[in-house]
Amino acid sequence: MRTRVAVGLYVWMLLVGAAAGGLVGAGAQRPQGGPGMPGPVVATHRLQVGGTTLQVDFAAGAFDLASEKVLGHVDMAAKAVAAYYGKFPVVGARVLVVPVADDRGILQGTTWGGVRSWPAFTRMRIGQHTTQGDLDDDWMMTHELVHMAFPSLADDQHWMEEGLSTYVEPVARVEAGELKPEQIWRDMVRDMAKGEPRDGDQGIDHTHTWGRTYWGGALFCLTADVAIRRETHNRKGLQDALRAIVDAGGTINHDWELPKALAIGDNATGTHVLLRQYEEWKDKPVAVDLPKLWEELGIKAVNGGVEFVDSAPGAEIRKAITKAR
Ligand SMILES: [Zn+2]
Repeated sequence: MRTRVAVGLYVWMLLVGAAAGGLVGAGAQRPQGGPGMPGPVVATHRLQVGGTTLQVDFAAGAFDLASEKVLGHVDMAAKAVAAYYGKFPVVGARVLVVPVADDRGILQGTTWGGVRSWPAFTRMRIGQHTTQGDLDDDWMMTHELVHMAFPSLADDQHWMEEGLSTYVEPVARVEAGELKPEQIWRDMVRDMAKGEPRDGDQGIDHTHTWGRTYWGGALFCLTADVAIRRETHNRKGLQDALRAIVDAGGTINHDWELPKALAIGDNATGTHVLLRQYEEWKDKPVAVDLPKLWEELGIKAVNGGVEFVDSAPGAEIRKAITKAR
């Protein structure tokens, strides 16, 4: 059983350090022994989202916020994922909310496939003193639920699982009307370069740093999305590929080889973009000319934000990627 953990760079370093040296840092909450119960469930709710039922359980513990607010946050994230995929990606899922005493913020999310009778199970650790503002700013809940929408891959392709969630999460939230396109393009301009290969890096299947895993994977997705849209005159995008993969049964509770998923995606868009790009990227470092890409898409960084240039050759591609429906 493989797990996906939403972590920032700091926790990533602790996890890698813990794995390498047998040390466990204070902040490294590596899941131990699978998705066991951290304590008794004190409340159970059911949400109807995108054609399925999500069971949301609360473990024992206190929140300053009313639990309805936390439940509303799960609902919003699930709706964004359902909007992107056209339905909730798995039939039946469970979310376990674990309050963490004397802490604040959405601390950690982990998602597993095939847990007992559940096709997918997400555990979210949320601090007792979390505010509504913290929930409003949170990306992790959506990121975790996106993990349900892709098959489980071998460890060398962990970058695809994390990169996909990193890329799809904000795009899905724009589609659901939660975020504005300006916000997510600003973030991509700021963060995508973290995914570029550094000196000494190998192909994306072989260099498993935090940057290459999360942002290298996201860069793969962005590059593929733009290429599919170019080749199809903007009639198809990565979203069509990803929906087809889910429709073919490619969800977290199934172990697949990555090329199988990519071939299904390519078939859905009538291109060879995904398999071709994977062949190019897997064994050797491929840099993306990001300044050129932003210019082509009509995205100009100004004063900590971005401005759009609608006369740019790829402006329509940019608009299609971040289109609210
Ligand atoms: Zn993740």
